[in-house]
Amino acid sequence: MNKANVALREFPFPAHCAVAISSDIDNASSVDSFKEIMNYFNSSSNTIFGNGLGLEVGNSFWFYTNSNKPQLSYFEGITTRKSKFAPIIRELWKSGHIDTMHSWGNFDLGGFDRSLADAGLNELQKCSTKIPVWVNHGVGLNLQKLGNYPNMKGDDPSHDAYHLDLSVEAGCEYFWIGKTTHIIGQNSHPSITNKLKLGLQWLIKRTKYYGTKDPIYDDGNELLFPIEFRDGRKMWEFIRFINAWGQEHILDINELTKQLNPSIIKRLIKNQGYMILYTHLNEHVDLAGLPQSLVKNLFYLQEHVVNGNILMGTTSRILKYKEIRDYLSYKIVETDNEVKIEVQDFIETPIGVKKIQENQLMGVTFYCDTPEKTTILLGKTKLDFKINPKDETGRQSISIPWQNLIYPS
Ligand SMILES: [Zn+2]
Repeated sequence: MNKANVALREFPFPAHCAVAISSDIDNASSVDSFKEIMNYFNSSSNTIFGNGLGLEVGNSFWFYTNSNKPQLSYFEGITTRKSKFAPIIRELWKSGHIDTMHSWGNFDLGGFDRSLADAGLNELQKCSTKIPVWVNHGVGLNLQKLGNYPNMKGDDPSHDAYHLDLSVEAGCEYFWIGKTTHIIGQNSHPSITNKLKLGLQWLIKRTKYYGTKDPIYDDGNELLFPIEFRDGRKMWEFIRFINAWGQEHILDINELTKQLNPSIIKRLIKNQGYMILYTHLNEHVDLAGLPQSLVKNLFYLQEHVVNGNILMGTTSRILKYKEIRDYLSYKIVETDNEVKIEVQDFIETPIGVKKIQENQLMGVTFYCDTPEKTTILLGKTKLDFKINPKDETGRQSISIPWQNLIYPS
């Protein structure tokens, strides 16, 4: 043990948990409702739904759509003609608020092949954009899905729908294959309820869902776990929260009320875990107003984000924080007058070695008994940090400040 008692805190001070809203773009009501919903969640200005909440809530996109329902996509249909929605997507790529590709498109009626991924990648590169999160979409003919399950061919190099190499080139680092959970807080403290639910999920997977050939639950309660795809690539798979108990329905804006019930928020803070909440934020949005019960629950969430109990960010930022927090390697160099925390500029993870950029260290918090004498270094660069008061453990800490994304006005 070093004399300054340097150790990593789980969450950025003073947070006790972290949450991201992970929204699939399916059945978005309209371009206008998409804009209004994003403005309401992210801005602090006057919106059609009331004063903006000033939270950080991301969204996802499709390049293409081949569905018998109207959908919002970057290109029109399965052409490469840009739709009127494209400029909005580009603006939110740039700000970081669209960080998720809900696969290359909606191919409910089929029609995906690798050349479409190529054209999408080309567009991302023209815009100097990387998309860190991949979320599988759809059933049946959506062969672009990734994972070793029936009708999921995107990572099978022998199939026409193979594209995983292009998705990785597009920046995808974190993949949602289809696993969900009812456990409030991944990597959380092992409360009795959580242990019970984990056991139940284990049992349901082997009874009710026995023989089901789709991704269901995971046996553990990890947010991120390694997956090896059929082309040999090792990447991170992540899990999404649906609700505390019971069957989900369509996970639209109305169901979000139940998903964000204050009892769930309270429990998440208590359990000290991570939550990537699975929703379709843009589905069934009525421009006349949001359900009052949802607004009430959102105010409750906002209160805890503002008072610092909850770290809230886009899916990719919460996943990146967790990855860095778990694998950060550092050395303590101590003299009588000085404590240096020398952070390595790469992390070694179960999926391989990854380079760290300075801005990815945001939020990293070290407990430290001698903050005034301490410096944090990444290579030769001295990093700015703030000194925090003691937390519930009675210990002082220092944090590399977490900065919210700037929402375009
Ligand atoms: Zn979908």
